[in-house]
Parts: sequence; C-alpha cells; structure tokens
Amino acid sequence: MTKLFEQIEQGLAALDEHDLRRRRRVTSSPTDAMVEVDGRRMLTFCSFDYLGLAAHPQIQSALQEGAALYGLGSGASHLISGHSIAHEQLEQRLAAMQSPHLECARAVYFGTGYMANLAVLSGLAASGGNDDTEIFSEKLNHASLIDGARLARCKVSIYPHADLNALEALLKNSNAKTKIVATDGVFSMDGIIAPLPEILALCERYEAWLVVDDAHGFGVLGDGAGILAHFNLRSKNLVYMGTLGKAAGVSGAFVAAHENVIEWLIQKARPYIYTTASPPALAHALLTSLDIICSAEGTQRRAHLHSLIVQFKSQFKSLTGDLSGLSLMASDTQIQPLIVGKNAITMELAARLYEAGIWVPAIRPPTVPVGTARLRISLSAAHSSEQIASLLSALHGLQKKAA
Ligand SMILES: *Cc1c(COP(=O)(O)O)cnc(C)c1O
Repeated sequence: MTKLFEQIEQGLAALDEHDLRRRRRVTSSPTDAMVEVDGRRMLTFCSFDYLGLAAHPQIQSALQEGAALYGLGSGASHLISGHSIAHEQLEQRLAAMQSPHLECARAVYFGTGYMANLAVLSGLAASGGNDDTEIFSEKLNHASLIDGARLARCKVSIYPHADLNALEALLKNSNAKTKIVATDGVFSMDGIIAPLPEILALCERYEAWLVVDDAHGFGVLGDGAGILAHFNLRSKNLVYMGTLGKAAGVSGAFVAAHENVIEWLIQKARPYIYTTASPPALAHALLTSLDIICSAEGTQRRAHLHSLIVQFKSQFKSLTGDLSGLSLMASDTQIQPLIVGKNAITMELAARLYEAGIWVPAIRPPTVPVGTARLRISLSAAHSSEQIASLLSALHGLQKKAA
C-alpha cells in the first residue's frame, strides 16, 4: 500500500475505534412512517418529512405535470438560461408567504439549503468588504451555516447557545462595519427554538443582519409560514432561509429578504451563480406543496403532528418514569432527542430498537458535542398515534433489558 492509502485506512480504523463509522442503509420505498429497508418493513423516526408530504399523490402528479411541461434538466445556471417560469412562480409564492415579516419582500430559490446558507453568509459578507465584516454564529448552528461563515472569509465569533448577554457583549465590542448574526431557528439536534425576538432586538440595536435558518420551522411553525410568523416578527434586518426538502416534502431551499438583499445575492453569491439551476419540474411540484401547506389540509396535518408531540412527551414521562441515563431534551417541537451520552451505548440502543423493527438514528460527534450522543426521534404527521405508542413501548423495553 502506498502512503496515501495507508492514511485513509488509518483514518477509517480510527473511526471504528471510536464508534464513529457511519453506514448508509438502503431504502426501497417512498419516505413514509413505514419504510422498506434491506427487504424489511421498518417503523421509522428518522426523516424530516414532518407533514408527511414526501409521498403525497397530488405533489407527485404535479411533478409529472412539471416534467411534461418543462422536461428534466434546466440546462444551465439561473443567470445563463436555466431560470424557468416555474422557478419564478415559486419565488413569488415564497416571497408572498414571508411578506408580512419583511420589508419589500423578495425570495430566491436554491437547489439545497446547504448552498443557500453558503450563499447568504458569503454574499452578505462581500457587501461590506470581507475585512470589515464579522459574523456572530450561535454555538449549535448547522454545519451549513458554519461552512457559510468559512466561505465568507471574515472574522467569525461563536456565541454560546442561546446566550443573549454574550451575544450583546460581542456585538457591542465589535468594530466591524458589517455585522451578521446567524442562527438556526429550531436547532436540528435539540429541537429547541431560538429566542428570536430577543436576538432580533439586539440586531436592530447594533445594526446587524439577522440570518435565520428555518429548516425545521418552515411548514410547521406559524401556520406553516415558519418561525417569523410563529413569533410575529417584522424587520428589514431579517434574512430568512427556509428549506423545501423537509416539511415541504420535495427538495431545495429559499432565501427571503428585502428585495435589494436578494438582488445582491443573485449578483454576487458564488454558490448561487456557479451551479446549474435545479429541474423546473421540482419548482412546479413545490407550488402544489405550498398550496397544501397553506390549506385546511396543512392545518390538519400540523394539528395531528402537534397531538403526536404532546402524546410522546406525556407518555414518555408516565411510561418510563425517570429512565436511568436517558433523558428527553426540553423540546416542544417535532424533534425529540433522547440524550444517551456515550457513542457505543447510543449505537447499541439504536441497534436494539432496530431489531425490534424501529429505526431511530443515533447521532454522534461531530454532529453533536462529545459526550452527548443521542437517539434523535423525529415525529411526523405521517405517524399514527398507535405508532407513537409502539415507539414508547420499545423504549420501555430497552430500559427493562438495560436494568
Ligand atoms: C437540513 C438542514 C440544512 C440543509 O438543507 P438541505 O436542503 O438539506 O441542504 C440547513 N440547515 C439546517 C438547520 C438543516 O437542518
């Protein structure tokens, strides 16, 4: 073996040693509460398909209609010839949804949320000159915001989780001309909602942009419009990012902000400019997804999801009592993590649940801090109350075996 390959092999061996090797399971059915994996039907609590739209028949038909209207590939980036009327219509709908919360709202659609966050942070940083810009990034932010801050090539300060005093001190002491605060709306590994009204007040006081990543709030919170509606916020400092592959059930993401901010991103953000536009048929399908999110059916799905969250939390308490070594986080959202601690134990618990026919992901470092490995349970409107009960009794079973 050459030196190059030895390094890779050592790296892989180190992952095994620390129980950090990840494996991809191959599924062979649509995303739903029950999923076929390795030829077996599993009850799953892994996906971010929070409203159960990922296999919705009307959205599937819309995708077929979109393919008939626009074909498959867009053929080029948005600034060359890849920007279709379907993308344009989608952006207008998304802007209208956020318009109560922004001044002169406009939206731009991206192929993924990862790219949207790279574009927003690098693009905003370029507006004031990278040397005169500082990004204030919340400790638990998603990897895409962290990478966006790296691509921005400016000073980056991390503030502790939900620590408003620390954030204020950083903002007060900063000499940067352009200040950007970046935070998840709902923290993806904890399910906790950021104290957004207070963060926004600081951003207005210290003249900073507030970039909110609402990957887990869009479609769910605020009657589907997301976290800005949830808190009833409105500000010209807000730059809102929502994803469309989670609750919206399809793919992609968008940024909504003041029209001049969006125009700047379109002109300057490299992750927007130098990539082929995603298929117009997806944007066409998303129009139907948004119709459903904003309809009585969407309201019903959110109400059902909420009832499952309440059921899970209350029955977890009464069924399992105070589980030794296992605790739920103080989350009121559809993300309900069960903190275990050690990687190996988390893996073992996940494996035992899997044997029992229940698929829950084990989340380990570096996705979460060392010593806080967890089973991240994601609830969806696709689940039934009986399926939540099955999960609870399987968790109970784990405990009996452990005792
Ligand atoms: C999933 C996620 C993203 C990335 O969105 P994709 O569309 O999956 O690329 C960004 N931020 C958060 C908080 C996420 O959970």
